[in-house]
Amino acid sequence: MSKNAFITKQQAEEICKEYPTPFHIYSEDGIRTVIRNLKKAFSWNKGYREYFAVKACPNPFLIKMMQEEGCGVDCSSYTELMLAESLGFSGKGIMFSSNATPAEDFEYARKLDAIVNLDDFSHIDFLAKHGGIPEEICLRFNPGGFFSVGNSIMGNPGDAKYGMTPDQMVEGIRKLMKMGAKRFGIHAFLASNMIEKDYYPTLAAQLFREAVRLNKETGAEISFVNLSGGIGIPYKPEDEPADIFYIGAGVEKAYNEIIVPSPIKSLDIKTELGRYITGPYGMLVTRVLHEKKTFKDYIGTDACAANLMRPAIYGAYHHIVVLGKENEPCTKIYDVTGGLCENNDKFAIDRSLPEIEIGDLLAILDSGAHGYAMGYNYNGKLRSAELLLKSDGSVQMIRRAETPKDYFATFDFSDIIKV
Ligand SMILES: *Cc1c(COP(=O)(O)O)cnc(C)c1O
Repeated sequence: MSKNAFITKQQAEEICKEYPTPFHIYSEDGIRTVIRNLKKAFSWNKGYREYFAVKACPNPFLIKMMQEEGCGVDCSSYTELMLAESLGFSGKGIMFSSNATPAEDFEYARKLDAIVNLDDFSHIDFLAKHGGIPEEICLRFNPGGFFSVGNSIMGNPGDAKYGMTPDQMVEGIRKLMKMGAKRFGIHAFLASNMIEKDYYPTLAAQLFREAVRLNKETGAEISFVNLSGGIGIPYKPEDEPADIFYIGAGVEKAYNEIIVPSPIKSLDIKTELGRYITGPYGMLVTRVLHEKKTFKDYIGTDACAANLMRPAIYGAYHHIVVLGKENEPCTKIYDVTGGLCENNDKFAIDRSLPEIEIGDLLAILDSGAHGYAMGYNYNGKLRSAELLLKSDGSVQMIRRAETPKDYFATFDFSDIIKV
């Protein structure tokens, strides 16, 4: 499949008159549509709800849209809880899935009456001391070993820091019941960025069986299963996008086979998708500043890994579109780089692209999740603005770009630096 940017060169140049590059831009239509289809795919489950993983794209303007579409939020830290509270989320609208959790984070989550997802057995006593044990609580499960879909190994939970062992799940529920908990959710996140369409159905079947086992061994009411995040997106042109209706039907089949005939009979499905919701509907737009020819041909842009670090840290592929040259043949091979003093600051290595000229605009696609959010200030680089392409075609700034003043703000106690 060919991959395209959701704005044209002409639109991008118009936007650049008001907002200088680089910037991340998101599509309102894209985000609303993906949520509506997700809800349709799981509409067979009355209690279904998506809790958007805030860490993927913590912008209140975008999360407000998701709230309008019926989503809750999945938070993992104090400031993510603040963001949720400021948007009016509370109670069952918030899933708090954290690990190595500070006391004040648990206290805050309990104050908001969020659903707490406990990462560890030892966190039971810790939560009892810092916020108290609620009536409904979630436990994060780690089955150990490898997680396979069919014959392929997809994840390595035995090597992951998250969740409780099968024995700890039983002990944890027994202990929590004695402390007043009445209803339990089970959560697991066993593989990431899965475009394998049977990932969610396979994970769901495993969690449903675990729910039945826990109910049998402890007598506890299992009120929901949280399938967490992990549905992937087609970063590469040859990747197949996830068919959410196939996925929803696959989870339904497992539910009908495992939950319906069990003593549990029914439970709610929850998801905490991040990448799947915003990933494809955001992109990083950057301008070409330089071309450098040494042992290789380098294109130097005004964005860098501080704006999008996935290629630098994971070697992740992000498709690049040279705006206005969508239909030109890829006759050149370039490394597309940012300006960090760090050799892995490359958005693409040996990438086939149309011939690029200085001043061209590049759209680095699929930056909508774990993109801006992972930004940092290394080399004194400033984080970019975030813009929203609204359904009516207008563009709204939803976060301004940082200025040097922001960069120096943490010296506000000192008189050495004045900006
Ligand atoms: C990161 C994360 C998610 C979202 O993951 P995606 O890959 O973006 O779908 C969901 N739940 C938890 C607990 C996470 O840590």
